[in-house]
Amino acid sequence: MQIEFYSWGAAQEVTGSKHFVTIGDTTLMIDCGAFQGKREITDKKNREWNFDPSKIDALILTHAHYDHCGLIPLLVKRGFKGNIYTTPATRDLAGLILTDSAHIQKSDIEYLKKHNPDNNIVIKEPLYNDEDIQKAMSSIISIPYNRPFPIAPGITVTFLDAGHILGSAQVFLDIEKDGEKSKIGFTGDLGRKNLPILRDPDILPDPDFLFIESTYGNRLHDTVDFATDKLADIITRTSARGGKIIIPAFSIERTQELVYIIHLLADQKKIPNIPIYVDSPMATNATSIFSAHPECFDEETRENFLKNNKNPFGFNQLHYVQDRDESKELNKLREPAIIISASGMCESGRILHHLKNNIEDHRNTILVVGFMAENTLGRKIADRQKTVKIFGVEYKLNAEVKILNAFSAHADYNEILDYLSSFDPNKLKKIYMVHGEPEAQEFLKLKLIEKNFRTTIMEPGKKYIENI
Ligand SMILES: [Zn+2]
Repeated sequence: MQIEFYSWGAAQEVTGSKHFVTIGDTTLMIDCGAFQGKREITDKKNREWNFDPSKIDALILTHAHYDHCGLIPLLVKRGFKGNIYTTPATRDLAGLILTDSAHIQKSDIEYLKKHNPDNNIVIKEPLYNDEDIQKAMSSIISIPYNRPFPIAPGITVTFLDAGHILGSAQVFLDIEKDGEKSKIGFTGDLGRKNLPILRDPDILPDPDFLFIESTYGNRLHDTVDFATDKLADIITRTSARGGKIIIPAFSIERTQELVYIIHLLADQKKIPNIPIYVDSPMATNATSIFSAHPECFDEETRENFLKNNKNPFGFNQLHYVQDRDESKELNKLREPAIIISASGMCESGRILHHLKNNIEDHRNTILVVGFMAENTLGRKIADRQKTVKIFGVEYKLNAEVKILNAFSAHADYNEILDYLSSFDPNKLKKIYMVHGEPEAQEFLKLKLIEKNFRTTIMEPGKKYIENI
């Protein structure tokens, strides 16, 4: 039996995840994510494909991040007819993310049309609309963790927890064809031990071939415990001087993790009794999906909250702000408070108003808890530039800026090595490395070779053939 592997996205880069496995006459696709980055290049990459969707038998989705699920409606629109397999929580989160993306695409195009009176910019149609999303959603078959499920003749899929975001899964393919057997594992995006809410990543059972991610293949993170103590200290110090804590955060996962930790700190009286506002409609919607999937929670969450019938995402001091007027009311706040808002990189959304109103007051703290890409307002704040522009107006950055990098949802290289320590390099035939920038991948590859793992960095479009 021959197995063929290739990738058309997230090979030597970190977005656009699209991996393929051909076993005999069956072709499976793992993730169908969008590329993210500079507008023109990514738009081209998202529209021009080197594969035929009608030739794919089934799609397996590891998790709901946009760079893993973002092009699924387009796949269906372009002729994919098979089933899409994923976990129940990923199905729900992906629906939210895709709908949000369709709305952003639509309003971006309306904006361009309005500001392009001479027609000198070629305006393309959105990649997909709400109707395309509905068609894609109706092809999804949800499978819980640890339930083997047949997806093609001789091929069974099992999802194991990846501990990355709610519903995130590692994929285990058990193949038995013409009397021959093989096992293939995909970590998807691999999470970390001790992240709030989520279980620690599971270990895949003895695969012959393993696909691992390598986003932070050359980096190390602080521990979550360290960050929790630091967060308590930042909240306490800022409120003692009468200031507010402004936290730009992604609406899905990071916001819920922060709410969870702040809730624990409040229960343990480690922070003063100040109001907390989650000011992002998307975060509020995502939080209801979290609440609907307690099957994804870890033991600590059960112990701390569910056992006592307490909601991890709701407590007295916490307010979810839905409408715009309520959001504007927050500008009048004079007392210490915590405001969590989106977008995570401060490029759009309500966070801009909160920054504008609070950035010049030295009593306030802006807390950076997520990745800030180059050229974003978030990066300028993280770099502590003296002045920054918000809505075209220059503001002095007088507020204190603090950075906590421990909430990363991706394993660092020590955590990847720790995960791999459960595998026997003599049994594991090969590790294929995906989802990483070349520098991180080269660094991690050396570490893996030191541990005697045969390792290949996947190149985009290149076909790798394994004989079983
Ligand atoms: Zn991810």
